[in-house]
Amino acid sequence: MTADAPPVFRFAPSPNGALHLGHAYSALVNFQMAQETKGRFLLRIEDIDRVRCRPELEKDMLEDLEWLGLEWETPPRRQSDHFNNYSEALDTLICEDLVYASFMSRKEIRDSVTAKKQSGIKWQNDPDGSPLYPGSEREWNAQQQEAERNNSPLHNLRLNMNAAIKHVSKNLSFVETGSGPEQETGVCAAYPEKWGDFVIARSDTPTSYHLSVVIDDALQGITHVVRGRDLFYATYVHRLLQELLGLPEPEYHHHDLILANDGRKLSKSAGDTSLRALRRAGMTPQDIKRLIGFST
Ligand code: GLU
Repeated sequence: MTADAPPVFRFAPSPNGALHLGHAYSALVNFQMAQETKGRFLLRIEDIDRVRCRPELEKDMLEDLEWLGLEWETPPRRQSDHFNNYSEALDTLICEDLVYASFMSRKEIRDSVTAKKQSGIKWQNDPDGSPLYPGSEREWNAQQQEAERNNSPLHNLRLNMNAAIKHVSKNLSFVETGSGPEQETGVCAAYPEKWGDFVIARSDTPTSYHLSVVIDDALQGITHVVRGRDLFYATYVHRLLQELLGLPEPEYHHHDLILANDGRKLSKSAGDTSLRALRRAGMTPQDIKRLIGFST
């Protein structure tokens, strides 16, 4: 960001279900921060999952956001229109020899980790609670990789975490103006190794959430990433990818999550907190804002 350029914020929902109060909160925090700083507010439709994201859900989502009173620059960026951008970035990482094909199914991963634990080996989970990848394909030579790729045309591509960290060869950090789950704030160290060899793309999709989010934040010139606290630890790998791909580093702000009455995270299938259901029950945008702590 140059000295006189306005800050740029974005709200980046996925049209794979109905927007709920948590989305409304995140969108409104971004919108309000943009207004307070005379910044720009952009919308990004994160629809790389071509099975779960559907045009009718996107239409409903845009309508819900408009109903709430949000205004964004048009057109919004739709990720499915830009697979070429992600492909190019993936190729860069492949050329640096930082990506390998992996072939274990979820069940094979689970079984392998269970067996390790039974034999007394401590096995770490990633910050989302999934076990780190236990496969050994990263050590295979090119011929072995090629042979198995022909055998299993559908497979995952993973970032070789140790190689990537070595490639970057410096400690990574980021500026957090909100806070993480353990009250992390200010200049925070990033520990991408906590995610192990995460999936960076699939054989049938040249990207993943982590890869596309850093590419799009850079291409859209996002200076402030404002999102829910559940994505705080994802920032560890976002910083790594930004460094590997020579992308600028935005400032981060992770905000509170709106929880359901039972204290659990809201989900897109929890019908009763969807904006649609609340609207159908007679709530106005002002009611929604009041409900999630925005005075109007
Ligand atoms: N698309 C993500 C979600 O709906 C948000 C991504 C982000 O803000 O970085 O949870």
